[in-house]
Amino acid sequence: MIHINAPQPTAKNIYAGKCPDCKKRTRYLAFFTPWYGWDSTCIKCGRNWIDNEWMPLTFEPQSRQKSVARAKKLWRKLPPRSENHYGDSPC
Ligand SMILES: [Zn+2]
Repeated sequence: MIHINAPQPTAKNIYAGKCPDCKKRTRYLAFFTPWYGWDSTCIKCGRNWIDNEWMPLTFEPQSRQKSVARAKKLWRKLPPRSENHYGDSPC
């Protein structure tokens, strides 16, 4: 998915669970963006959900690895919570 001028996430969350895609115990990195919702990525297989909707992966090579790398990079970059974060608590 290509975002142009995508708003920056204002909160992040990490949580454990069993991934319905790779069927493993894993952790998810989740990011909250205003008007967009929670974007969660399984760090084992790269499966991505937005507001609990299963996002189709692109058919480019290594799309799952890229998805994991993107989530980890964003995780390192973001503060725990931005000043402009509103409302919604982590899932
Ligand atoms: Zn998974």
